Amino acid sequence: MTVAAFVERQLRPYDTTQLAAFDLCHDTGAKYYSGWCESNGTCVVSCGVNPGVVYPYTERFAVYHHETYADEPELMVCLAGHEAYHFLCATNQAEPDTELGANVMGVAWLEEWRA
Ligand SMILES: [Zn+2]
Repeated sequence: MTVAAFVERQLRPYDTTQLAAFDLCHDTGAKYYSGWCESNGTCVVSCGVNPGVVYPYTERFAVYHHETYADEPELMVCLAGHEAYHFLCATNQAEPDTELGANVMGVAWLEEWRA
């Protein structure tokens, strides 16, 4: 399954009528990756991974959680889950809109991707 197909499947239970675009791309300007969810009536989500990231790449989310990505799809899935959470909060389908909540969903998507 491609990351794009996975993201589409993960969002299927939700209302995506206000989602104008969900971009998965490369961002050579980011240190490791960049992501944002812009909400202005409709939402645009962007997830960009620097193609120069060397794997395995370990990220520290909090003192109690580290995540090691084996490859670019794993990093992209976790980032997409994180930004998808911000989209769901922006459209009143999840709460509260915090970085912790977004990280929890990113890790949950990653675990499903690996299963
Ligand atoms: Zn965030």
